[in-house]
Amino acid sequence: MQYLKFDVFEKSINTIETASGSAVVFMAKENKKKIFVIQGKNASSLGFNAQVIESGILRADLNHENACVLRKIFPFTAPVRGLRKNTSFGLGDRLGIATSGHLRLFEKNDVFPVFAQQSVRELNLTNRTYEEVLDAVSFAVYREGFKKGFGADGDHLKTAKDIEYALSLGFTMITLDCSDHIKNENPQSYPQLSKYYADKYLNRTFIIEDTNLVFTEEELKQCISIYKEAVLFAEDIYNRFFASGKYNADLEISIDETESVTTPLAHFFAARELLDLGVSFASLAPRFCGEFQKGIDYKGDLTQFENEIKIHAAIARHFGYKLSIHSGSDKFRVFPVISRQTGGRFHIKTAGTSWLEALRIAAEFDPSLYREIHLSALTVFGDAKKNYHVTAALSEIPDISFLKDEELHTLFENDNARQLLHITYGQILNKKNNDGSFVFKDRLYTLWQSYENEYFKALEKHIGKHLELLNI
Ligand code: ZN
Repeated sequence: MQYLKFDVFEKSINTIETASGSAVVFMAKENKKKIFVIQGKNASSLGFNAQVIESGILRADLNHENACVLRKIFPFTAPVRGLRKNTSFGLGDRLGIATSGHLRLFEKNDVFPVFAQQSVRELNLTNRTYEEVLDAVSFAVYREGFKKGFGADGDHLKTAKDIEYALSLGFTMITLDCSDHIKNENPQSYPQLSKYYADKYLNRTFIIEDTNLVFTEEELKQCISIYKEAVLFAEDIYNRFFASGKYNADLEISIDETESVTTPLAHFFAARELLDLGVSFASLAPRFCGEFQKGIDYKGDLTQFENEIKIHAAIARHFGYKLSIHSGSDKFRVFPVISRQTGGRFHIKTAGTSWLEALRIAAEFDPSLYREIHLSALTVFGDAKKNYHVTAALSEIPDISFLKDEELHTLFENDNARQLLHITYGQILNKKNNDGSFVFKDRLYTLWQSYENEYFKALEKHIGKHLELLNI
């Protein structure tokens, strides 16, 4: 649809009543730039920071100030709580361009999507702020007319300062990363068993559905030594930010980014201690057996995984929260197991896979740019590995000088190449020329803008495969 000189996003047309009559607000493209257009006698009363195009018609930029106005007058563009719903799905978007593709998958099912999901590590590596993360999602949701509600997750936060930052912006979920307070297993440092723990856990059988959990003295000491401090840390954070109900947000407890695999006994112990201290949380992310590495399928013993997640899911049901599965992208082997054993009650997080799909677009539509990026990624892989645990071997990645342009897409089926590209996003996006300009970033964003619909389709297909195997 054309309006004046604008290409209008038709699903974004909304009418709103003001004190002195109605106004129409929509998003449009002016040249290549997205803007808001506000039309109506009292258009300026809505509060957008805008310029007058002609009498009764305003133009407003997509900036933070206007995002705040948008969330106020169109509440469907603001995040809401939904982690306690049966199934929820996190979709991190490191680039701020994927949400329009993501949300198409959630129009027709009962799954609660968490479109804004970013860790501080990702913010730092992409030079973004939580304002930008949330604003990009609000704009996409407005543009597509997605009115079902979505969440915003301050992901893997470790400090009170970061938590307060995310909550003050209206994030509706905090994933508390307890890993700095989880001790590595060390039998030499096991504590003396206090009467409190001995009375509570020894010589008892905890019946969780069809599993009996029994602690030996050694196992109990191990749980205390690994998780006690993490439990106290979570209690402190809960009391500071969640107990009063000041912020309208859900809490997820994450104990996954550690060396210690969370055994069913350890899960039971940590959950029981948290709940007895009054810490109420909607979900918990254990570290499962096997490996959930970034960007590739599950590595490990499927039978053991199924046996253990069965008990983890039962413990979560017993206490009344749900399991959260982190690094959930591309874990196609285990999706049917997760769906079966949780009965569809879970939260799952994906992020980097949407970045990989964006690079797939680059490989397809600008092969020479992709080649430059690929060669650059190879040189910074060692550095990027400090931030992420991956096992990719560069020697297993085909030499791209032997690949024809139309063969570049095969790299996205190669686990080693996937991990190479998955974890080097920060270095790729931030790489600068001598004059301070970006080597790749601006060219990539220009390309992604030109092939926006192709990107959305790729996301729909790839994330859609996740939903299918998860039986959503
Ligand atoms: Zn995690």
